[in-house]
Amino acid sequence: MSPEAEERDLAEAYLGGLLASLGLSVEYVRAEKDTLYRLDEEGRERAVLDLVGGYGSTILGHNAPELVGYAKELLDRGVPVHAQFSRHPYANDLALRIDAIVKRELGPAEEYAAIFANSGAEAVEIAMKHAELDRIMRLAELEAEIDAAAERALAAAAGGAPLLADDTLRRLAAEAGLPAGAGTDEVADGIRRINAARTAAAAPVFLAPEGSFHGKLVGSVQLTHNAGFRTPFGALAAQCRFVPVHEPDAVAKAVEAERRTLFALASDADGVRVVEHELPVIAAFVLEPVQGEAGIRPFDRETVRRIQDACAAADCPVIVDEVQSGMGRTGTFFAAAPLGLRGDYITLAKSLGGGLVKAALTLVRTSRYRKEFELVHSSTFAKDAFSTLIAGRTVDLLEADGGAVYRKAAERGAHLTAMLRGLQEEFPDVVREVRGRGLMIGLVFHDQSASASAPIAEQSRAGLLGYALSGYLLRVHDLRILPTASATDTLRLEPSVHLTDAETDRLEAGLRALLTLLRNQDGDALLPP
Ligand code: PMP
Repeated sequence: MSPEAEERDLAEAYLGGLLASLGLSVEYVRAEKDTLYRLDEEGRERAVLDLVGGYGSTILGHNAPELVGYAKELLDRGVPVHAQFSRHPYANDLALRIDAIVKRELGPAEEYAAIFANSGAEAVEIAMKHAELDRIMRLAELEAEIDAAAERALAAAAGGAPLLADDTLRRLAAEAGLPAGAGTDEVADGIRRINAARTAAAAPVFLAPEGSFHGKLVGSVQLTHNAGFRTPFGALAAQCRFVPVHEPDAVAKAVEAERRTLFALASDADGVRVVEHELPVIAAFVLEPVQGEAGIRPFDRETVRRIQDACAAADCPVIVDEVQSGMGRTGTFFAAAPLGLRGDYITLAKSLGGGLVKAALTLVRTSRYRKEFELVHSSTFAKDAFSTLIAGRTVDLLEADGGAVYRKAAERGAHLTAMLRGLQEEFPDVVREVRGRGLMIGLVFHDQSASASAPIAEQSRAGLLGYALSGYLLRVHDLRILPTASATDTLRLEPSVHLTDAETDRLEAGLRALLTLLRNQDGDALLPP
């Protein structure tokens, strides 16, 4: 660090101060597999076991040698990194590789078009933006149909076809204030007025399970349930209704609550009548197959079935966010696969970049795909050759040897989970739950806000206990473990498939010390001196 940089910090200094107060302000100088190295006072490397795994971006470990070698080769070859608005066959290669995985894991029924992005939140926003384009195009198609049907009906009425009275006509007449015995012309006029008002009032809405986390950009943060992240920015983007999806009829009710219709005229041999068509209001239902930042909460097949059924009934697209759960972490490439969850949109990021580059993808089911989107969306950096080629090689490594990495993720995850469950049995008073799938595991602590130790109770009430536990594990045991973003009572464990038995043993020893300290309410030992 330059002498000046020691005095002045303009790069998120406030956050830096917070990290320092929790004992988490550590600079890492080198990384490999699941180890990050920091320097001790003598300038020697000190190994820290990293269970955070780049928040899910290092399923193949830090600096995977195959990817580092490939990156060097690309640079030596002088690969043109930025050539936006030209042909990118390597991007199509990656899309085809992913397509083969989709067909294997999610079923052969349909293809997905691929749109490239730079980050998880951006991939989510591409899905949101495409879903909205699709919604307004469906709405425009519906309005054109209604206009054409009205013309036909008015022609029929001019030829003597009667206006058939029924409940729908009565509801329209009441809402439009039509006089008793109004003719087809007046009814058509009323329909135009009511439809215009209903369309203008129907802002797009997203639905998502409570606890959801989908990023922190202007649009995606509205899908992130955590009120602290979301509410200051509510005026900037489309709103989301958060659904308690584990209540059996909650999804169907939420979909029903957003239902709106448009009136139309229809004519047949009997005459002209007023009918109603669904006005698309819900842009999409968005979910993570395993909620990450909510505290590592896997969905079950039954809940997923209810969500898919309710969405299918309302023709509402489903966005499956695999930014954290995807790329093999849970034992399959897509965490959605064993749930029978097949999204209209699928997002990937984090480990797609192999832990080296920023890469993200939004897949769109071709039957929902609007090619017009390609003309209204782009990014200077998305689809660049360097990142996309490394993403392609990452997928190759995951798929090698008939999916050895997926099997390893399941096996390493089971081993780690068994160790954690052992600790839960030993410390049921401290550990509330161990949950997750594969290498996406949450260690959930009992509430400590009534602790006999004032510092522990204080940290707990401030929602910072998880960070205090992290600080202790780092300071005393050289273990890097951090809480999930929206549930700070849960420590996340998302190591790479390289995690060894010896490392798991080391982790166990550190966690046992932590749990003992919490059992003894030893706040002084927990917090930095
Ligand atoms: N979606 C999910 C499910 C995530 O877990 C995250 C990040 N934790 C994001 C989106 C946002 O990704 P990024 O941080 O790359 O914007």
